[in-house]
Amino acid sequence: MSEAGPIPTDSAPNIIPRSAHPVSRANISPNALKVLYRLKDSGYQAHLVGGGVRDLLLGREPKDFDIATDAHPEDVRRLFRNCRLIGRRFRLAHVIFGREIIEVATFRAMQDADSGDDGHHVDGEGRIVRDNVYGTIEDDALRRDFTVNALYYSIADFSIIDYTGGMQDIESGVLRLLGDPETRYREDPVRMLRAVRFATKLGFRIEADTERLIQPLGPLLGDIPPARLFDEMLKLFMGGSALANFEMLRHYDLFRQLFPLTEQSLTHEENHFPLTLISHGMANTDARIEAGKPVTPAFLFAVFLWQPVRERAAQLEAEGQHPAQALQHAGSQIIAEQAQVMATPRRFSLPMREIWMLQLRLEQKGGRRRARVLEHPRFRAAYDFLLLRGEAGEVSKDICDWWTEFQETQPSQGEQQQPRTRPRRKRRNRSRRKPEGKVT
Ligand code: ATP
Ligand code: MG
Repeated sequence: MSEAGPIPTDSAPNIIPRSAHPVSRANISPNALKVLYRLKDSGYQAHLVGGGVRDLLLGREPKDFDIATDAHPEDVRRLFRNCRLIGRRFRLAHVIFGREIIEVATFRAMQDADSGDDGHHVDGEGRIVRDNVYGTIEDDALRRDFTVNALYYSIADFSIIDYTGGMQDIESGVLRLLGDPETRYREDPVRMLRAVRFATKLGFRIEADTERLIQPLGPLLGDIPPARLFDEMLKLFMGGSALANFEMLRHYDLFRQLFPLTEQSLTHEENHFPLTLISHGMANTDARIEAGKPVTPAFLFAVFLWQPVRERAAQLEAEGQHPAQALQHAGSQIIAEQAQVMATPRRFSLPMREIWMLQLRLEQKGGRRRARVLEHPRFRAAYDFLLLRGEAGEVSKDICDWWTEFQETQPSQGEQQQPRTRPRRKRRNRSRRKPEGKVT
Protein backbone atom coordinates (compact mmCIF):
# COMPACT_ATOMS: atom_id res chain seq x y z
CA MET A 1 0.00 0.00 0.00
CA SER A 2 1.32 3.40 0.93
CA GLU A 3 4.54 4.44 2.63
CA ALA A 4 3.49 3.00 5.98
CA GLY A 5 5.86 3.39 8.92
CA PRO A 6 9.49 2.41 8.89
CA ILE A 7 9.44 -1.34 9.18
CA PRO A 8 12.99 -2.51 8.94
CA THR A 9 12.92 -6.26 8.54
CA ASP A 10 16.11 -8.29 8.82
CA SER A 11 17.80 -5.15 10.02
CA ALA A 12 20.00 -4.73 13.03
CA PRO A 13 18.20 -3.02 15.86
CA ASN A 14 19.11 0.39 17.10
CA ILE A 15 20.63 -0.16 20.54
CA ILE A 16 20.49 2.81 22.87
CA PRO A 17 22.98 2.37 25.71
CA ARG A 18 22.05 3.21 29.30
CA SER A 19 24.03 6.44 29.13
CA ALA A 20 21.82 7.71 26.28
CA HIS A 21 18.31 7.14 27.68
CA PRO A 22 16.50 8.06 30.90
CA VAL A 23 15.00 4.70 31.92
CA SER A 24 16.23 3.96 35.41
CA ARG A 25 15.79 0.88 37.59
CA ALA A 26 14.75 3.23 40.36
CA ASN A 27 11.47 3.78 38.48
CA ILE A 28 10.76 0.12 37.73
CA SER A 29 8.61 -1.87 40.14
CA PRO A 30 10.84 -3.97 42.45
CA ASN A 31 8.70 -7.01 41.63
CA ALA A 32 9.24 -6.55 37.89
CA LEU A 33 12.98 -6.25 38.56
CA LYS A 34 12.88 -9.47 40.60
CA VAL A 35 11.28 -11.31 37.68
CA LEU A 36 13.69 -9.82 35.14
CA TYR A 37 16.75 -10.76 37.22
CA ARG A 38 15.61 -14.28 37.96
CA LEU A 39 14.96 -14.94 34.26
CA LYS A 40 18.37 -13.51 33.35
CA ASP A 41 20.18 -15.46 36.09
CA SER A 42 18.54 -18.63 34.78
CA GLY A 43 20.01 -18.03 31.35
CA TYR A 44 17.05 -16.46 29.56
CA GLN A 45 16.65 -13.15 27.78
CA ALA A 46 14.51 -10.79 29.81
CA HIS A 47 13.18 -7.40 28.78
CA LEU A 48 10.70 -4.87 29.94
CA VAL A 49 8.43 -4.03 27.00
CA GLY A 50 5.32 -2.11 25.97
CA GLY A 51 3.68 0.62 28.00
CA GLY A 52 6.21 0.33 30.83
CA VAL A 53 9.17 1.32 28.65
CA ARG A 54 7.16 3.88 26.67
CA ASP A 55 5.86 5.64 29.76
CA LEU A 56 9.24 5.68 31.52
CA LEU A 57 10.83 7.22 28.43
CA LEU A 58 8.16 9.91 28.53
CA GLY A 59 8.66 10.55 32.24
CA ARG A 60 5.24 9.11 33.09
CA GLU A 61 4.35 6.56 35.70
CA PRO A 62 3.58 3.22 33.98
CA LYS A 63 0.26 1.54 34.72
CA ASP A 64 1.89 -1.87 34.77
CA PHE A 65 5.12 -3.61 33.80
CA ASP A 66 5.08 -6.27 31.12
CA ILE A 67 8.01 -8.57 30.48
CA ALA A 68 9.05 -10.36 27.29
CA THR A 69 11.38 -13.35 27.34
CA ASP A 70 12.58 -16.34 25.33
CA ALA A 71 11.63 -18.61 28.24
CA HIS A 72 8.49 -20.64 27.53
CA PRO A 73 5.52 -20.29 29.89
CA GLU A 74 6.27 -23.66 31.51
CA ASP A 75 9.86 -22.51 32.11
CA VAL A 76 8.57 -19.37 33.77
CA ARG A 77 6.27 -21.40 35.97
CA ARG A 78 9.16 -23.56 37.10
CA LEU A 79 11.09 -20.47 38.15
CA PHE A 80 8.33 -18.82 40.19
CA ARG A 81 6.18 -20.45 42.79
CA ASN A 82 3.76 -17.52 42.66
CA CYS A 83 3.06 -18.08 38.95
CA ARG A 84 -0.13 -18.88 37.08
CA LEU A 85 -0.46 -19.64 33.38
CA ILE A 86 -3.38 -17.98 31.66
CA GLY A 87 -4.85 -17.75 28.17
CA ARG A 88 -5.87 -20.46 25.79
CA ARG A 89 -5.04 -18.79 22.49
CA PHE A 90 -1.65 -17.68 23.63
CA ARG A 91 -0.31 -18.74 27.00
CA LEU A 92 1.00 -16.04 29.28
CA ALA A 93 2.58 -16.33 32.70
CA HIS A 94 1.32 -14.15 35.52
CA VAL A 95 3.73 -13.79 38.41
CA ILE A 96 1.70 -12.66 41.38
CA PHE A 97 2.99 -10.44 44.17
CA GLY A 98 0.00 -9.60 46.34
CA ARG A 99 -1.98 -7.07 44.33
CA GLU A 100 0.69 -6.61 41.69
CA ILE A 101 0.73 -8.96 38.72
CA ILE A 102 3.74 -9.05 36.44
CA GLU A 103 2.82 -10.41 33.04
CA VAL A 104 5.51 -12.47 31.35
CA ALA A 105 5.05 -13.27 27.67
CA THR A 106 7.22 -15.48 25.51
CA PHE A 107 8.49 -13.84 22.31
CA ARG A 108 5.80 -14.37 19.73
CA ALA A 109 6.02 -14.42 15.94
CA MET A 110 4.42 -11.91 13.60
CA GLN A 111 0.80 -12.49 12.80
CA ASP A 112 1.01 -12.99 9.10
CA ALA A 113 -2.10 -13.15 6.96
CA ASP A 114 -0.30 -15.05 4.20
CA SER A 115 1.28 -17.71 6.34
CA GLY A 116 0.25 -21.27 5.77
CA ASP A 117 -0.33 -23.90 8.33
CA ASP A 118 2.32 -22.75 10.73
CA GLY A 119 0.10 -21.82 13.60
CA HIS A 120 -1.27 -18.49 12.32
CA HIS A 121 -4.84 -18.67 11.23
CA VAL A 122 -6.69 -15.80 9.68
CA ASP A 123 -10.39 -15.90 8.88
CA GLY A 124 -12.12 -14.55 5.77
CA GLU A 125 -12.02 -10.99 7.13
CA GLY A 126 -8.29 -11.13 7.78
CA ARG A 127 -8.78 -11.45 11.54
CA ILE A 128 -6.46 -13.63 13.53
CA VAL A 129 -8.31 -16.53 15.00
CA ARG A 130 -5.36 -18.49 16.30
CA ASP A 131 -1.75 -17.71 16.88
CA ASN A 132 0.42 -19.86 19.00
CA VAL A 133 3.86 -19.64 17.53
CA TYR A 134 6.85 -18.47 19.46
CA GLY A 135 9.43 -16.33 17.75
CA THR A 136 12.54 -14.23 18.16
CA ILE A 137 12.66 -10.86 19.87
CA GLU A 138 12.55 -9.22 16.44
CA ASP A 139 9.41 -11.16 15.49
CA ASP A 140 7.97 -10.10 18.81
CA ALA A 141 8.71 -6.44 18.11
CA LEU A 142 7.09 -6.53 14.69
CA ARG A 143 3.85 -8.14 15.85
CA ARG A 144 3.16 -5.35 18.34
CA ASP A 145 0.72 -2.55 17.54
CA PHE A 146 2.59 0.78 17.55
CA THR A 147 6.28 1.61 17.22
CA VAL A 148 6.29 3.32 20.61
CA ASN A 149 4.95 0.10 22.18
CA ALA A 150 7.70 -2.05 20.66
CA LEU A 151 10.72 -0.90 22.65
CA TYR A 152 12.63 -3.37 24.86
CA TYR A 153 14.61 -2.50 27.96
CA SER A 154 17.22 -5.19 28.51
CA ILE A 155 18.03 -6.22 32.06
CA ALA A 156 21.37 -7.64 30.81
CA ASP A 157 22.94 -4.27 30.05
CA PHE A 158 20.14 -1.72 30.69
CA SER A 159 20.07 -0.70 27.03
CA ILE A 160 16.95 -0.07 24.98
CA ILE A 161 16.53 -2.19 21.87
CA ASP A 162 14.59 -0.57 19.04
CA TYR A 163 13.66 -2.59 15.92
CA THR A 164 10.96 -0.27 14.59
CA GLY A 165 11.97 3.36 14.96
CA GLY A 166 10.01 3.71 18.19
CA MET A 167 12.63 5.93 19.85
CA GLN A 168 12.34 8.47 17.06
CA ASP A 169 8.54 8.40 17.30
CA ILE A 170 8.67 8.87 21.09
CA GLU A 171 10.83 11.93 20.53
CA SER A 172 8.56 13.40 17.87
CA GLY A 173 5.31 12.48 19.62
CA VAL A 174 4.00 10.29 16.81
CA LEU A 175 1.74 7.26 17.09
CA ARG A 176 2.53 4.96 14.17
CA LEU A 177 1.08 1.53 13.52
CA LEU A 178 3.61 -1.15 12.66
CA GLY A 179 3.25 -2.68 9.21
CA ASP A 180 0.54 -2.15 6.66
CA PRO A 181 -2.30 -0.34 8.44
CA GLU A 182 -5.12 -2.08 6.60
CA THR A 183 -3.71 -5.52 7.37
CA ARG A 184 -3.08 -4.64 11.00
CA TYR A 185 -6.55 -3.14 11.56
CA ARG A 186 -8.22 -6.10 9.88
CA GLU A 187 -6.22 -8.52 12.01
CA ASP A 188 -7.41 -6.77 15.13
CA PRO A 189 -9.87 -3.87 14.81
CA VAL A 190 -9.41 -3.01 18.51
CA ARG A 191 -6.14 -1.37 17.42
CA MET A 192 -8.29 1.53 16.17
CA LEU A 193 -9.57 2.11 19.70
CA ARG A 194 -6.05 1.77 21.03
CA ALA A 195 -4.84 4.41 18.57
CA VAL A 196 -7.35 6.86 20.00
CA ARG A 197 -6.58 5.93 23.59
CA PHE A 198 -2.82 6.35 23.22
CA ALA A 199 -3.13 9.54 21.16
CA THR A 200 -5.13 11.24 23.94
CA LYS A 201 -3.21 9.71 26.83
CA LEU A 202 0.22 10.61 25.47
CA GLY A 203 -0.81 13.75 23.61
CA PHE A 204 0.63 12.18 20.43
CA ARG A 205 -0.28 12.89 16.81
CA ILE A 206 -1.60 9.90 14.88
CA GLU A 207 0.62 9.46 11.83
CA ALA A 208 -1.22 9.98 8.52
CA ASP A 209 -1.23 6.37 7.25
CA THR A 210 -2.21 5.10 10.67
CA GLU A 211 -5.03 7.64 10.81
CA ARG A 212 -6.42 7.40 7.29
CA LEU A 213 -8.20 4.05 7.58
CA ILE A 214 -9.65 4.47 11.04
CA GLN A 215 -12.92 5.92 9.87
CA PRO A 216 -13.49 3.63 6.87
CA LEU A 217 -12.57 0.47 8.80
CA GLY A 218 -14.44 1.43 11.98
CA PRO A 219 -17.38 -0.90 11.24
CA LEU A 220 -15.01 -3.88 11.67
CA LEU A 221 -15.40 -3.26 15.40
CA GLY A 222 -18.88 -4.74 15.01
CA ASP A 223 -17.28 -8.19 14.98
CA ILE A 224 -15.44 -7.79 18.27
CA PRO A 225 -16.93 -9.87 21.10
CA PRO A 226 -19.07 -7.71 23.45
CA ALA A 227 -16.97 -8.64 26.49
CA ARG A 228 -13.76 -7.38 24.87
CA LEU A 229 -15.45 -4.14 23.82
CA PHE A 230 -16.58 -3.64 27.39
CA ASP A 231 -12.98 -3.97 28.60
CA GLU A 232 -11.77 -1.49 26.01
CA MET A 233 -14.59 0.87 26.94
CA LEU A 234 -13.38 0.83 30.55
CA LYS A 235 -9.84 1.68 29.46
CA LEU A 236 -11.12 4.54 27.31
CA PHE A 237 -13.45 6.09 29.87
CA MET A 238 -12.01 5.18 33.26
CA GLY A 239 -8.41 6.22 32.64
CA GLY A 240 -8.65 9.95 33.24
CA SER A 241 -9.12 11.04 29.60
CA ALA A 242 -12.79 10.23 29.13
CA LEU A 243 -13.73 13.56 27.59
CA ALA A 244 -10.81 13.63 25.14
CA ASN A 245 -11.51 10.02 24.15
CA PHE A 246 -15.21 10.69 23.69
CA GLU A 247 -14.43 13.59 21.38
CA MET A 248 -11.77 11.77 19.39
CA LEU A 249 -13.89 8.63 19.04
CA ARG A 250 -16.67 10.77 17.63
CA HIS A 251 -14.24 12.53 15.34
CA TYR A 252 -13.34 9.18 13.73
CA ASP A 253 -16.93 7.96 13.91
CA LEU A 254 -15.88 5.12 16.22
CA PHE A 255 -18.15 6.12 19.07
CA ARG A 256 -21.11 4.69 17.15
CA GLN A 257 -19.41 1.29 17.23
CA LEU A 258 -19.42 1.35 21.04
CA PHE A 259 -22.70 3.15 21.74
CA PRO A 260 -24.83 3.06 18.57
CA LEU A 261 -28.03 4.13 20.34
CA THR A 262 -26.28 7.11 21.90
CA GLU A 263 -24.73 8.15 18.61
CA GLN A 264 -28.15 8.04 17.03
CA SER A 265 -29.63 10.24 19.72
CA LEU A 266 -26.75 12.70 19.29
CA THR A 267 -27.68 13.21 15.66
CA HIS A 268 -31.02 14.74 16.60
CA GLU A 269 -30.03 16.66 19.67
CA GLU A 270 -31.94 19.71 20.78
CA ASN A 271 -30.31 22.73 22.39
CA HIS A 272 -27.04 20.77 22.68
CA PHE A 273 -28.69 18.19 24.91
CA PRO A 274 -27.61 15.31 25.28
CA LEU A 275 -24.14 16.34 24.09
CA THR A 276 -23.76 18.67 27.05
CA LEU A 277 -24.88 15.98 29.47
CA ILE A 278 -22.30 13.54 28.12
CA SER A 279 -19.46 16.08 27.92
CA HIS A 280 -20.09 17.22 31.48
CA GLY A 281 -20.40 13.61 32.65
CA MET A 282 -17.03 12.79 31.08
CA ALA A 283 -15.39 15.92 32.48
CA ASN A 284 -16.74 15.07 35.97
CA THR A 285 -15.41 11.53 35.68
CA ASP A 286 -11.96 12.83 34.71
CA ALA A 287 -12.01 15.30 37.59
CA ARG A 288 -12.94 12.57 40.08
CA ILE A 289 -10.11 10.36 38.86
CA GLU A 290 -7.69 13.27 39.05
CA ALA A 291 -8.82 13.85 42.65
CA GLY A 292 -8.39 10.16 43.52
CA LYS A 293 -12.13 9.61 44.00
CA PRO A 294 -13.77 6.37 42.92
CA VAL A 295 -15.74 6.13 39.69
CA THR A 296 -18.05 3.38 38.50
CA PRO A 297 -18.93 2.22 35.00
CA ALA A 298 -22.58 2.22 36.12
CA PHE A 299 -22.57 6.01 36.22
CA LEU A 300 -20.85 6.27 32.83
CA PHE A 301 -23.36 3.94 31.26
CA ALA A 302 -26.21 5.80 32.90
CA VAL A 303 -24.93 8.99 31.27
CA PHE A 304 -24.35 7.51 27.81
CA LEU A 305 -27.67 5.72 27.61
CA TRP A 306 -29.89 8.33 29.25
CA GLN A 307 -31.09 10.02 26.09
CA PRO A 308 -31.98 6.75 24.31
CA VAL A 309 -33.84 5.72 27.48
CA ARG A 310 -35.73 9.02 27.66
CA GLU A 311 -36.75 8.81 24.03
CA ARG A 312 -37.94 5.23 24.42
CA ALA A 313 -39.80 6.09 27.62
CA ALA A 314 -41.57 8.98 25.89
CA GLN A 315 -42.64 6.60 23.15
CA LEU A 316 -43.99 4.08 25.67
CA GLU A 317 -45.80 6.80 27.56
CA ALA A 318 -47.41 7.96 24.33
CA GLU A 319 -48.61 4.37 23.95
CA GLY A 320 -50.35 4.72 27.31
CA GLN A 321 -47.86 3.47 29.90
CA HIS A 322 -47.58 5.12 33.28
CA PRO A 323 -44.36 7.26 33.52
CA ALA A 324 -42.61 4.98 36.03
CA GLN A 325 -43.56 1.89 34.08
CA ALA A 326 -42.44 3.49 30.82
CA LEU A 327 -39.05 4.42 32.30
CA GLN A 328 -38.61 0.93 33.72
CA HIS A 329 -39.42 -0.75 30.43
CA ALA A 330 -37.38 1.72 28.40
CA GLY A 331 -34.40 1.06 30.68
CA SER A 332 -34.70 -2.70 30.20
CA GLN A 333 -35.04 -2.41 26.44
CA ILE A 334 -32.11 -0.06 25.96
CA ILE A 335 -29.87 -2.12 28.27
CA ALA A 336 -30.75 -5.25 26.28
CA GLU A 337 -30.05 -3.52 22.95
CA GLN A 338 -26.74 -2.10 24.18
CA ALA A 339 -25.74 -5.56 25.45
CA GLN A 340 -25.74 -6.83 21.86
CA VAL A 341 -22.74 -4.58 21.27
CA MET A 342 -21.09 -4.48 24.64
CA ALA A 343 -21.42 -6.92 27.52
CA THR A 344 -22.29 -5.09 30.72
CA PRO A 345 -22.12 -7.15 33.91
CA ARG A 346 -25.24 -7.03 36.06
CA ARG A 347 -23.34 -5.45 38.91
CA PHE A 348 -23.22 -2.35 36.70
CA SER A 349 -26.54 -2.56 34.88
CA LEU A 350 -28.57 -2.84 38.10
CA PRO A 351 -27.22 0.34 39.72
CA MET A 352 -27.51 2.11 36.38
CA ARG A 353 -31.19 1.32 36.29
CA GLU A 354 -31.58 2.54 39.89
CA ILE A 355 -29.90 5.82 39.01
CA TRP A 356 -32.46 6.31 36.24
CA MET A 357 -35.47 5.28 38.32
CA LEU A 358 -34.48 7.59 41.16
CA GLN A 359 -34.63 10.52 38.75
CA LEU A 360 -38.43 10.34 38.85
CA ARG A 361 -38.37 10.91 42.59
CA LEU A 362 -35.69 13.57 42.43
CA GLU A 363 -37.51 15.55 39.77
CA GLN A 364 -39.94 16.62 42.45
CA LYS A 365 -38.95 18.61 45.44
CA GLY A 366 -39.05 15.69 47.74
CA GLY A 367 -42.59 14.54 48.06
CA ARG A 368 -43.86 12.57 50.99
CA ARG A 369 -41.01 10.10 51.25
CA ARG A 370 -38.21 12.51 50.53
CA ALA A 371 -36.09 11.60 53.58
CA ARG A 372 -36.24 7.94 52.54
CA VAL A 373 -34.72 8.81 49.17
CA LEU A 374 -31.58 10.02 50.91
CA GLU A 375 -31.15 6.57 52.42
CA HIS A 376 -31.23 4.81 49.08
CA PRO A 377 -27.83 3.21 48.39
CA ARG A 378 -27.82 4.88 44.99
CA PHE A 379 -28.93 8.31 46.17
CA ARG A 380 -25.51 9.90 45.87
CA ALA A 381 -25.02 8.72 42.29
CA ALA A 382 -28.57 9.66 41.37
CA TYR A 383 -28.11 13.12 42.85
CA ASP A 384 -24.85 13.62 40.91
CA PHE A 385 -26.76 12.50 37.84
CA LEU A 386 -29.51 15.02 38.56
CA LEU A 387 -26.90 17.78 38.81
CA LEU A 388 -25.55 16.78 35.39
CA ARG A 389 -29.04 17.00 33.97
CA GLY A 390 -29.32 20.40 35.58
CA GLU A 391 -26.07 21.57 34.00
CA ALA A 392 -27.27 20.29 30.65
CA GLY A 393 -30.52 22.24 31.04
CA GLU A 394 -32.79 19.22 31.24
CA VAL A 395 -34.08 19.89 34.75
CA SER A 396 -34.36 23.22 36.51
CA LYS A 397 -31.56 24.53 38.67
CA ASP A 398 -34.19 25.13 41.29
CA ILE A 399 -34.75 21.39 41.80
CA CYS A 400 -31.02 20.67 41.97
CA ASP A 401 -30.55 23.42 44.57
CA TRP A 402 -33.48 22.13 46.54
CA TRP A 403 -31.91 18.67 46.90
CA THR A 404 -28.51 20.14 47.69
CA GLU A 405 -30.02 22.15 50.53
CA PHE A 406 -32.32 19.39 51.70
CA GLN A 407 -29.37 17.03 52.15
CA GLU A 408 -27.46 19.59 54.15
CA THR A 409 -30.30 19.95 56.62
CA GLN A 410 -30.66 16.20 57.15
CA PRO A 411 -29.06 14.76 60.29
CA SER A 412 -27.80 11.56 58.65
CA GLN A 413 -25.68 13.39 56.13
CA GLY A 414 -21.98 12.93 56.56
CA GLU A 415 -22.45 10.38 59.32
CA GLN A 416 -19.86 7.67 59.00
CA GLN A 417 -20.38 4.13 60.11
CA GLN A 418 -18.83 3.68 63.51
CA PRO A 419 -16.23 0.97 64.02
CA ARG A 420 -17.80 -2.10 65.59
CA THR A 421 -15.62 -1.99 68.70
CA ARG A 422 -17.05 1.31 69.88
CA PRO A 423 -20.42 1.40 71.60
CA ARG A 424 -23.08 2.11 69.02
CA ARG A 425 -24.63 5.52 69.14
CA LYS A 426 -28.34 5.46 68.75
CA ARG A 427 -28.91 6.77 65.28
CA ARG A 428 -31.77 9.09 64.60
CA ASN A 429 -31.88 8.11 60.99
CA ARG A 430 -31.15 4.51 60.16
CA SER A 431 -29.15 5.18 57.05
CA ARG A 432 -28.36 2.34 54.71
CA ARG A 433 -26.46 4.76 52.55
CA LYS A 434 -22.85 3.83 51.82
CA PRO A 435 -20.21 6.29 52.96
CA GLU A 436 -19.95 9.19 50.56
CA GLY A 437 -17.83 8.58 47.53
CA LYS A 438 -18.40 4.82 47.41
CA VAL A 439 -21.21 5.14 44.99
CA THR A 440 -20.15 7.15 41.99
P1 ATP B 1 -1.25 0.73 29.02
O1 ATP B 1 -1.01 -0.50 29.85
O2 ATP B 1 -0.62 1.95 29.54
O3 ATP B 1 -2.67 0.90 28.65
P2 ATP B 1 0.25 -0.73 27.07
O4 ATP B 1 0.97 -0.28 25.82
O5 ATP B 1 1.10 -1.38 28.11
O6 ATP B 1 -0.52 0.50 27.61
P3 ATP B 1 -1.27 -3.14 27.08
O7 ATP B 1 -2.68 -3.35 26.64
O8 ATP B 1 -0.90 -3.34 28.49
O9 ATP B 1 -0.89 -1.68 26.59
O10 ATP B 1 -0.40 -4.08 26.15
C1 ATP B 1 1.00 -4.28 26.36
C2 ATP B 1 1.72 -4.34 25.04
O11 ATP B 1 1.25 -5.45 24.26
C3 ATP B 1 1.53 -3.12 24.15
O12 ATP B 1 2.41 -2.10 24.46
C4 ATP B 1 1.78 -3.70 22.77
O13 ATP B 1 3.16 -3.81 22.54
C5 ATP B 1 1.20 -5.10 22.89
N1 ATP B 1 -0.21 -5.16 22.45
C6 ATP B 1 -1.30 -5.01 23.23
N2 ATP B 1 -2.43 -5.11 22.52
C7 ATP B 1 -2.05 -5.31 21.25
C8 ATP B 1 -2.76 -5.51 20.02
N3 ATP B 1 -4.09 -5.49 19.98
N4 ATP B 1 -2.03 -5.70 18.90
C9 ATP B 1 -0.67 -5.74 18.95
N5 ATP B 1 0.04 -5.56 20.05
C10 ATP B 1 -0.63 -5.35 21.20
MG1 MG C 1 0.41 -2.22 29.94
